[in-house]
Amino acid sequence: MNRFESLTQLVDGSDNAYTRQRLRGFPWLRFEPELECEYRELNYQGFQRTRNASALLLIVALLGFLMLDIVYGYGAQFPPTSFFAMALRSLTVLFACVGYWRVRNESRVHIGERWIVAVLGFTGFTSILMMLVYARYHQEFHLPLLLDAVILLMITVLFPVGLSVHVGMGMALLIALSAWLLTPWVSGHLMDQQYVAFMPFQVASLVALMALRYYHERSFRTLFLLRGSLHEMASTDALTGLFNRRAFDALARQALAQSAREARLCALLLIDVDHFKRYNDVHGHPTGDQALKAIAKRLHDFPRRPLDLAARMGGEEFVLLFADVDKAFVARIGAHVCEAVRALGIGGEGGPLTISVGVALGPPGCSLDGLYEQADQAMYQAKQQGRDRAYGGADDRQGASQGRVRS
Ligand code: GH3
Ligand code: MG
Ligand code: MG
Repeated sequence: MNRFESLTQLVDGSDNAYTRQRLRGFPWLRFEPELECEYRELNYQGFQRTRNASALLLIVALLGFLMLDIVYGYGAQFPPTSFFAMALRSLTVLFACVGYWRVRNESRVHIGERWIVAVLGFTGFTSILMMLVYARYHQEFHLPLLLDAVILLMITVLFPVGLSVHVGMGMALLIALSAWLLTPWVSGHLMDQQYVAFMPFQVASLVALMALRYYHERSFRTLFLLRGSLHEMASTDALTGLFNRRAFDALARQALAQSAREARLCALLLIDVDHFKRYNDVHGHPTGDQALKAIAKRLHDFPRRPLDLAARMGGEEFVLLFADVDKAFVARIGAHVCEAVRALGIGGEGGPLTISVGVALGPPGCSLDGLYEQADQAMYQAKQQGRDRAYGGADDRQGASQGRVRS
């Protein structure tokens, strides 16, 4: 088994939305709505550079075509069609520039995608129109291959501009079909033979391009799912599904920074299951695992706001972070959590499993380490004073004992 296979097998064992989607498959290149949204977001953000580069390329190419229009018009003493072509091409260049500027400054996928479609659609429309004008009025310009259209097809189907695969393919088909249907109609029978002779080549190119895009997109999506599963595995605790310590540290620092910016108080609750070694000894390790799972599930209900967190720090220790609290909430929350776990009624004759909670109240701008130390000391006090209780949560300056909450 090579590394990739063993990695895949490892990931397959995890239970998360990414793995479930990968095992279920996605033949139509679509995930379930939430993942699809995340994928498109990432895709759009990730292709920012190539999108900007391809937009610039498109503008340069259009300017090149404009130059050709001018040169050709000059050679042909500027017939009215040349002015028409130049005006249309200039309009396309202008529209492409506006589109480039808008997409460059647009971080929302659905709006950015609309602009990409609009620019490609307008460029496709004017390019085809131009070919038809030349084909109709300037016989020398008879090209059996619609060069503009083919270039545009390649851009639409292959260029990583952050367009979803369905929209990309839909646009390519639309451009190809309008080019193929309109050309013979406008150019008359003169072009028919050549045109028909080249048709299989054009169809084959389009099919090949689309197949390439399909497989490219599929492997891209597979990698996205693998990456997502690995990220989930690296940041969640396998037994309880809560965040693990690594993820907690990173997310908590972000949450504290945000609270500091908004000048909010925050609270950290350190939670330790009481006499858990004894529980394991009496009931066995697997039952102990079930108890930890049940406690974790209950703790998971406490975070209410987006920045709040519940995590398992290791063993039978958990943590809750609230990023926006007032003192009244902090005075209550420890006892609340104790009560909630006791109410689960896990355990046997000796009474239900209980927890001890160390509560720390942090002023805006407090550090995670400081908060953690404060909660740890409070936890020590809670254990010292008989367990099954919360301790701490008072303002630092008043001393911890004043904030003691007896459950
Ligand atoms: P205290 O009230 O002082 O916290 O006592 P305690 O027994 O809970 O503390 P101690 O640190 O002595 O024991 C913790 C126990 O938690 C020991 C270990 O077997 C158990 N434990 C740690 N992780 C797991 C786990 O993942 N599953 C199970 N079943 N038990 C675990
Ligand atoms: Mg412990
Ligand atoms: Mg313990």
